[in-house]
Amino acid sequence: MLSPSLEDYLEEIYRFSMNHDVVRVSDIAACLDVSLPSVSSAIRKLSRKDYLKYKKYKELVLTDKGRRLGRFLVERNRILQDFLRIIQSECDIPAEAEAMEHYLTLPTIRSIENLVDFMSSHPECHQKLIGFCLGRKKEVSGLADGYGNI
Ligand code: MN
Repeated sequence: MLSPSLEDYLEEIYRFSMNHDVVRVSDIAACLDVSLPSVSSAIRKLSRKDYLKYKKYKELVLTDKGRRLGRFLVERNRILQDFLRIIQSECDIPAEAEAMEHYLTLPTIRSIENLVDFMSSHPECHQKLIGFCLGRKKEVSGLADGYGNI
């Protein structure tokens, strides 16, 4: 298992590689808004674990192992963002998915994926859920904020 931080680097490298022929250390630093030295240190760790290789001019090339895990990480993030939209969460969806993704186990993510796929193939059920959520919002029922914000 990779640390959450290394997972995020690999996720971003894979995402970037989907739309670009060449991935450089500086591209990833820009995407994640982190310093070049911290990206370089993460890249060294990922290359030691055989997820990617360095080429000339700081070009990064994912290995088969790196591509497989990268695809999983991007897909896992996509499932969680879809889930948050389906349940009508009023959170910052990318930030919330980012917070959840490293802490849920694979069985839970697969169950969430089932729910996401179920709702997209049964839009009538999704409509019912949306109506139910709206009703509860109007009645101001459900979990009260224990910290007292509204
Ligand atoms: Mn993350």
